[in-house]
Amino acid sequence: MSAPGQATSLLEQLGVDRAQLQSGDLVVRTPITGEELARVARTDAAATDASIQRAAAAFTAWSDVPGPHRGELVRLLGEELRREKEALGALVTLEVGKIAQEGLGEVQEMIDICDFAVGLSRQLYGRSIASERPGHRLTETWHPLGPIAVISAFNFPVAVWSWNAALALVCGDPVIWKPSERTPLTALACMSLLHRAVERFGGAPTGLAELVIGGADRAVQLADDPRIPLVSATGSTQMGKDLAPRIAARLGRSLLELGGNNAAIVAPSADLDLVVRGVLFSAVGTAGQRCTSLRRLIVHETIADEVVDRLAAAYRSVPVGDPRDPGTLVGPLIGADSFGRLEEAVADARAAGGEVVAGGDRLLADEFPDAWYASPTLVRMPSQSAVVERETFAPLLYVLTYSEPDEAIALQNGVPQGLASSIFTTDLREAERFLASSGSDCGIANVNIGPSGAEIGGAFGGEKETGGGRESGSDAWKAYMRRQTATVNYTNELPLAQGIVFDVPS
Ligand code: NAD
Repeated sequence: MSAPGQATSLLEQLGVDRAQLQSGDLVVRTPITGEELARVARTDAAATDASIQRAAAAFTAWSDVPGPHRGELVRLLGEELRREKEALGALVTLEVGKIAQEGLGEVQEMIDICDFAVGLSRQLYGRSIASERPGHRLTETWHPLGPIAVISAFNFPVAVWSWNAALALVCGDPVIWKPSERTPLTALACMSLLHRAVERFGGAPTGLAELVIGGADRAVQLADDPRIPLVSATGSTQMGKDLAPRIAARLGRSLLELGGNNAAIVAPSADLDLVVRGVLFSAVGTAGQRCTSLRRLIVHETIADEVVDRLAAAYRSVPVGDPRDPGTLVGPLIGADSFGRLEEAVADARAAGGEVVAGGDRLLADEFPDAWYASPTLVRMPSQSAVVERETFAPLLYVLTYSEPDEAIALQNGVPQGLASSIFTTDLREAERFLASSGSDCGIANVNIGPSGAEIGGAFGGEKETGGGRESGSDAWKAYMRRQTATVNYTNELPLAQGIVFDVPS
């Protein structure tokens, strides 16, 4: 079946109204062939305002629903996702070009966070704190926050929404979602599946989940609106730098998940078989289009030649092609602009003394003249020059060398971003040094696996120009709630804190 035909039938199966696919001026193309899949309508400023209004009204009703009941809606969403895992995964593949396995993996991640959120809905724990005053009780309670805006990137078109939405919904917050303008189809499909869950749930307020389709202008509108206490924004560092001051100007909260420039250190004791497999998945998987993709390999000088030789051989044999084919491991880049940035980075790397060991070419141009397939690219660099310090969202890996462990950590930390990092070593002391406070400065630090491919159980996010946000597991849910400290006096006395005496003379 052709890509457009496949998209139409998947969207129908997922419950998206056919009229929504032909009625607009936002052209959606598949990066697999460049063919047009649909034309969807953009949400204008007035309709976005109406969405915010509906979400604000829904908050009043939803925040009163007990947490475990809110969890029931998310449980039903998880069921819908389980039922349609194949179809939604295939749609992710069509819309962003991920290989079939990774499209399915992304939907599995949605199911996992739903399961997590259902459990969480009975565990929105506060604390009881020892009061310094006799006959007093001091507690902390977590209350729903308000409508949450979710702005998401193209490369995880559905998982990022679910990370936010599953937690926000159990926390009592409606969600207004502005997906990437490159991925409105998977967003429409998610809304349809949520709608099915809402129908089965019965009695959820209108406005609990809103969708805004558009570009940066709509993201700015959401960022500026004081009815939205939290804006969760995933995308480039530049996007975060543009939006964060706007949210801060109205003293709103932001949760920023921005660009990464992730490294792996390969120590002399490393298991090199593991290194080759780990590096390939992290650097080449998803065509290098993960925020956690491996972009810098910092190898001990004594093993650098061997590591580069083995990687170069593996790079040359990685199957690149149509991501729907089961044998393909690397699909297309999202568009011509991404390929242009890869070419520019390779040219800059060469100018800085880099040696291209493998890749750097456009592939399959005859078969797919309107699509952008890149050969996985490996470049040996003499130093961590400016080009290495920037994130190039493509399968481009720089190799650097080091001689002393401190030098490796300095290189790892010596970039503006702070998302994911890893070390390959069988030396316990080296591993612990890497994980210590003086080691990796990233939000994610791994040992003997690459930097990408996180599970939902841990908090996800990074430091410095990655934005400092944490989403997904652990206690990331607290970002979606407001904390209230309460003091209850159950005596007839009024002792004051800090021993202050404030007695009115009688
Ligand atoms: P992008 O920044 O171009 O777009 C992301 C979202 O922000 C989209 O919805 C877009 O419409 C909006 N946007 C873009 N520029 C904006 C601006 N100036 N003002 C307001 N809104 C704006 O990113 P992308 O190309 O879709 O995704 C790739 C980037 O996202 C990479 O930098 C990647 O590292 C990052 N990313 C980070 C994470 C994370 O969790 N840290 C996850 C996925 C992607």
